[in-house]
Amino acid sequence: MTPQVFDVELFKKSGHYQNYHDNMFFTEVDEREFGVKPMNCPGHFLMFSQQAFSYRDLPVRYADFGRLHRYERSGVTQGLTRVRTFCQDDAHIFVTLDQMADEMDRFIELIDEVYGAFGFTDVKVGLATRPEQFMGTVENWEIAEKALASAFERRGRPYVIHAGDGAFYGPKLDFQVTDAIGRAWQLGTLQVDFSNPEQFDLHYTAEDGTKKRPVVLHRAVLGSLERFFGILIEHTGGDFPLWLAPEQARVIPVSDKLLDYARSVADALRVAGLRVTVDERNEKLGAKIRNGELEKVPVLLVVGEKEREAGTVSVRRRQAGDLGSRPLAEVAAEMKQAVAARAATWGAAAPANH
Ligand code: ZN
Repeated sequence: MTPQVFDVELFKKSGHYQNYHDNMFFTEVDEREFGVKPMNCPGHFLMFSQQAFSYRDLPVRYADFGRLHRYERSGVTQGLTRVRTFCQDDAHIFVTLDQMADEMDRFIELIDEVYGAFGFTDVKVGLATRPEQFMGTVENWEIAEKALASAFERRGRPYVIHAGDGAFYGPKLDFQVTDAIGRAWQLGTLQVDFSNPEQFDLHYTAEDGTKKRPVVLHRAVLGSLERFFGILIEHTGGDFPLWLAPEQARVIPVSDKLLDYARSVADALRVAGLRVTVDERNEKLGAKIRNGELEKVPVLLVVGEKEREAGTVSVRRRQAGDLGSRPLAEVAAEMKQAVAARAATWGAAAPANH
């Protein structure tokens, strides 16, 4: 975690002060002007510049779930998708050009694992290449673009080239997912940066003892976590898979006499690491079940006299229906396993279709 506020000198160096001033929050302490960070990059460049790295240390990777603040005009903010403070799953990787291909492989594996876990399988990739105005040499740009493209070519994965759409400081990859109702959302990015290493005078000691500039890769997998939650809630219609549901199971006693058993069932599931509640309201059984279904709780466990005597629970999985009475210990073990595997099936719904 890098600091929340920095002396504005840092943002003058990064260019944010000159180019991003209207979107930043500022404060003054002891007649010194500070800026609240709108991005993690300047702090990470400062960190890198404080140490002496050799080629053996590279790649150097900083990951930072830092909280960012951006002053968005009130007409522009929207729900969870555009807010004034958010957390990004941000990283900056300092590499040599030769190391880019390996980093790309790692990045694609990470993207696949994370998006797959959330049920986003339709992922489109765009590669933005060298624009007319650019920094650095044509040769370096070509090496970088080739490294980005070849990672997909090796895997036989399609990608689209957006010719000339790169930033002036480097080529860029965009990862787009399609949600349940067919809308496209840009989530991950990987931006190659030849410019900031110059601005911040970043260097490492090469094998021949000379000082060389690293290349910076800015990368995010989900991007803003707030925005991602907004997208995910819409994608699933609030019908989260078991591993993700805030309330994974609800125990429903058929009458007040079974409250003690219901609580002991909940305790046993909590010991297994599950998020469980007990519906202790004095309502009819049918109403409680309907309520649990409306609130999209993945697993409802109904307990009556018969279940108490046998040490079982009557299992109702969301969108999979009634499984009948099962031994509590078995249910707890299976649910625990399904959560650990981020399984989409045990008590989970397929991505909703609304
Ligand atoms: Zn960055």
